[in-house]
Amino acid sequence: MTASVQNITVLGATGSIGQSTLDVIRRHPDKYRVFALTAARSVDAMVRDINEFQPRFAVMVDSDAAQQVKAQIGANTEVLAGDDALASVAAHPQVDQVMAAIVGAAGLLPSLAAAEAGKRVLLANKESLVMAGPLFMQAIARGGAQLLPIDSEHNAIFQSMPADYRGRFADHGIEKILLTASGGPFRGKQASELHQVTPEQAVAHPNWSMGAKISVDSATLMNKGLELIEACFLFHCQPQQVQVVVHPQSVIHSMVQYCDGSVMAQLGQPDMRTPIAYGMAWPERIDAGVRHLDLFEIARFDFMPPDEVAFPCLRLAKEAFAAGGTMPAVLNAANEVAVDAFLRQELSFTAIPALIEGVMQRHAVQQISLLETVLDADRWARDCARSLLSEDSL
Ligand code: NAD
Ligand code: MG
Repeated sequence: MTASVQNITVLGATGSIGQSTLDVIRRHPDKYRVFALTAARSVDAMVRDINEFQPRFAVMVDSDAAQQVKAQIGANTEVLAGDDALASVAAHPQVDQVMAAIVGAAGLLPSLAAAEAGKRVLLANKESLVMAGPLFMQAIARGGAQLLPIDSEHNAIFQSMPADYRGRFADHGIEKILLTASGGPFRGKQASELHQVTPEQAVAHPNWSMGAKISVDSATLMNKGLELIEACFLFHCQPQQVQVVVHPQSVIHSMVQYCDGSVMAQLGQPDMRTPIAYGMAWPERIDAGVRHLDLFEIARFDFMPPDEVAFPCLRLAKEAFAAGGTMPAVLNAANEVAVDAFLRQELSFTAIPALIEGVMQRHAVQQISLLETVLDADRWARDCARSLLSEDSL
């Protein structure tokens, strides 16, 4: 039983995962206290949450937004601005847990700071692991941090693994991970039907309510590609040991298959408060505010293989992991530029994988023993993607 109240920094507090995290904290004031909240620039949401949770610090990446927040709140919360402040509230000595829920590559440095400082890292920001998996895992080990996966699939795998999992499948009789995917809003569509789809259709996920970027990633299946890479780093395995299984109901959140024929699964509502509460309370369990599963209401489970022809992003992610070094960071950065352009209606849905593949083909892979190499590859891939976009050849 954890004796003291746990101080939590919520990175990306105004987003979908951030708000679900605050809802779990709200239900357990005796166990958790908000130490710091961070956001890019959403002033109104930040002011509202500061008033409710009275954190010691609030960070706005945008300095004008920080000024606006400061003008509207009381003296209990110190408002900081800029990227460096994200890392300092993640690594602060008084912090016990850090919810890493910034979207995209911007989450890497603060998540790493939490890892180096030995915090319990509640990792929603899968992009950190995709970009810099080996360095991130080393930082966790060096800092003596606890890494709890929050992505629902990886949380389910974690729950379905032996409690003393030591990083080698063979030691525990594990054969493979079955990584489930909803298939997104365009499941079953042919490549020829996907050219005209709009951002509005792409962000309308059938089961989950999420931020815009991950919703588009779910529609292209890049989300599953990023998650495959995430699983390989988290559980020390190879892509051939991870099978993607499309399961449209999103009730089984992933499974682990053992050599005796057993398959362990974690089931639940598609509500991120379950994995968030699990990560916060582990190895205990707390109420997450989630409606319990009614199997009669669900009635059936369907499974099918992913369509890698209509949705090439999953293949691209496998190729990026196989190439290794800087290539996953390049995949991630090119994807961020492509998704942003799609959301601004400057790129068609089917041109997203084409742009990413174009950037990958132009990249000369480097090994990544230094963080600077990853950050350089990220910058290079963004520049390359923007110049391909401006050529208008996609
Ligand atoms: P979101 O867009 O709803 O929220 C993003 C948060 O990050 C916001 O608070 C925003 O202010 C902040 N932010 C954006 N850009 C920033 C920047 N440059 N610097 C600092 N902060 C910045 O995103 P989300 O859906 O909550 O997803 C967050 C992360 O969690 C992503 O990595 C996503 O892949 C992962 N994730 C989300 C879900 C989900 O259900 N939403 C599930 C699994 C994993
Ligand atoms: Mg997921």
